[in-house]
Amino acid sequence: MSYDRNNVFARILRGELPCHKVHEDEHTLAFMDIMPQTPGHTLVIPRAEARDLFELPAEVLTATIVATQRVAHAVRQAFSPPGVMIAQFNGAAAGQTVFHLHFHVIPRYDGESLTLHGAKPGDSQVLAAHAERIRACLQV
Ligand code: AMP
Repeated sequence: MSYDRNNVFARILRGELPCHKVHEDEHTLAFMDIMPQTPGHTLVIPRAEARDLFELPAEVLTATIVATQRVAHAVRQAFSPPGVMIAQFNGAAAGQTVFHLHFHVIPRYDGESLTLHGAKPGDSQVLAAHAERIRACLQV
């Protein structure tokens, strides 16, 4: 299947849809997941058009995973979770719902299970505050 230029993340990249931005650079954009599975759930995406891991050239993949590490550091500092999960799905059968490659950065807490994937919209003000908390940790 070919890349759909109107998928929701492509539209965010073009500025046609809003997001709670955390970080951006030449190759990547990071923003809050609109349906967070735990507080602080952040997404990191490449700017390049790629449906999944298999479609992204290695150089851009490197830049994307480095950005993911950087964002994960900031998420860890901002929320102090004992664990941070990095998740990435390829294909509907694997649980992918948005077909532009993305890495989930999800803080994890002992004994706390994840809320259902993509199930419950987060409060916009809370998401904005969380984005600001993470951005502050990226600057130090
Ligand atoms: P996946 O199932 O791995 O494709 O994950 C897609 C993720 O994108 C889900 O966790 C959704 O909550 C999230 N999502 C969908 N639309 C938006 C949006 N407009 N802004 C931020 N996150 C979104």
